[in-house]
Amino acid sequence: MTFTELWSQLEPIGRWAETGGYRRYSWTAADADCRAWFAEQARSRGLRLETDRNGNLWGWWGEPGPGAIVTGSHLDSVPDGGAFDGPLGIVSAFAAVDLLRERGAQPVKPIAVTAFVEEEGARFGVACLGSRLLTGVVDRSRALGLTDDSGVSYAQAMAAAGLDPDNVGADEGLVGNIGAFVELHVEQGRALEPLGHAVGIGESIWPHGRWRLDFTGVADHAGTALFADRKDPMLPYASTVLAARRIASERGALATFGKVIAEPGGANGVPAAVHAWLDARAAEEAVLRETVTTVSYEAEKASAEQGVSFSVRQESETPVVRFDQGLLNRISGVLGKAPVLPTGAGHDAGVLAARVPTAMLFVRNPTGVSHSPAEHADRADCEAGVRALAAVLEELACR
Ligand SMILES: [Zn+2]
Repeated sequence: MTFTELWSQLEPIGRWAETGGYRRYSWTAADADCRAWFAEQARSRGLRLETDRNGNLWGWWGEPGPGAIVTGSHLDSVPDGGAFDGPLGIVSAFAAVDLLRERGAQPVKPIAVTAFVEEEGARFGVACLGSRLLTGVVDRSRALGLTDDSGVSYAQAMAAAGLDPDNVGADEGLVGNIGAFVELHVEQGRALEPLGHAVGIGESIWPHGRWRLDFTGVADHAGTALFADRKDPMLPYASTVLAARRIASERGALATFGKVIAEPGGANGVPAAVHAWLDARAAEEAVLRETVTTVSYEAEKASAEQGVSFSVRQESETPVVRFDQGLLNRISGVLGKAPVLPTGAGHDAGVLAARVPTAMLFVRNPTGVSHSPAEHADRADCEAGVRALAAVLEELACR
């Protein structure tokens, strides 16, 4: 099946008509439709479908076993995300399998196409949850107890989707069978466009993390409470947003508040509390830590000035990832002049890199915009990505 045919099947699932963005949250109806699509792709190719204990999907070409060459990505999205982040890696994986079969390639190692659950952390707050559970870097009881914004726990959501939360946990046997993992992903940022290349090779992932900031004040009437009497948590929150931008840019880091909840949320009241999520990233771990510490210090200070209490809690942190040099050299050998790039975005590949030789391929994103409906990759570049992935799989699994 061509890339275009595969792509057009998945494209309508979970797209929000008003925004044109995707809302494919884990264990929802849209997610179930994406998973059914995956199962059908595996079935129609004669790939053996396995759902691992954490709900990640695997389509095996050949008997599952040691030295497997695994490729894939994720199907879930951020709120109003783009079409490419995640699905491009999975569609390309199936298309690469088709291409290898057309060429009559004979793998001597098992190949698996995989889809990891809850990569974006959009519903339960912890990114790469499926791959973290698989590799045991997230405690199963912590994961099962995570709740979404309406109070539904991860265990409840999984059970509602027909999976058994009692099974959740590390799977050393499965991880032990992975000989190499290659994740193809749409480029996030804009490095390939000026270089004039359709496909790049991942070198490293910046350390990054997510912190929850809670500003707690006192709810009051917007029309009667004097400024002098207010304990308004919106003020220290607002100054923290500006401080984070300044602090991060002074250090060459990145800091973003993309989610904020004001309680109780009345338009004519001083809020009782503001909960905000800070996403911070930097090239070096020490710089990341210093950025977050300084932002927290400024938030604490601004809160005290307003009589507001402040607390900060880390929800996730991912250390710097450097992809396997031997694998990178082998892939560079196959892909010739493809540029080697770092990225500021987290991926399941970053989680797996701690356990197995891992690599990433990036497909050019002409504007660099991601996590938005404007995210884009040209069809010709996607097809170049499929050819590159097929060449890499052939090198790793057929020799
Ligand atoms: Zn992604």
